[in-house]
Amino acid sequence: MGRYDESKKSSGAKGKKFGHAGRAEDPYRPEEGQEASICSECQALYQNKRWFFDEKLARRLAGTDKVRQVVCPTCRQVKDEYPEGILTLSGDFFKERRGEILTLIKNEAARVSSRSVQDRIIKMTEEAKDKLVVETTTEKLAQRLGRAVYRAYKGALDFRWAEMNRFVRVYWSR
Ligand SMILES: [Zn+2]
Repeated sequence: MGRYDESKKSSGAKGKKFGHAGRAEDPYRPEEGQEASICSECQALYQNKRWFFDEKLARRLAGTDKVRQVVCPTCRQVKDEYPEGILTLSGDFFKERRGEILTLIKNEAARVSSRSVQDRIIKMTEEAKDKLVVETTTEKLAQRLGRAVYRAYKGALDFRWAEMNRFVRVYWSR
């Protein structure tokens, strides 16, 4: 019983401390008098603690002192190669239709990425002629890409979550 109390207390204190630090410093917050922050890599905008794409607004703010230049968390994640989702495609059918399956994946990823700053492909690695590994910035995108391939070509689709659902491995094969 004593042990239970102790762990409860320590995790509570930790959570509070973390929350405090998060509120105190937001590394992407625009400066006083600025309208937004902008990612110099992908032109994503940041306002009211939210990342989004808005070409018109980005063009209007570009080069003015109304905007703060930063690098967004997704661009950092891509640069650091830190995936939260990994999709593995494999099989003889994959080997045969590789080109069109890759096109489908790239198109689906581009569609999702254009709407959501967080979702991006980090890299694709050919491990063998019949095996390709796609690393994504979010577990959501890896799942979406796996489902898109499954919808188009059937085959076998499998999901394995880890780390409190913050990381997923998706396997598609045919
Ligand atoms: Zn960016």
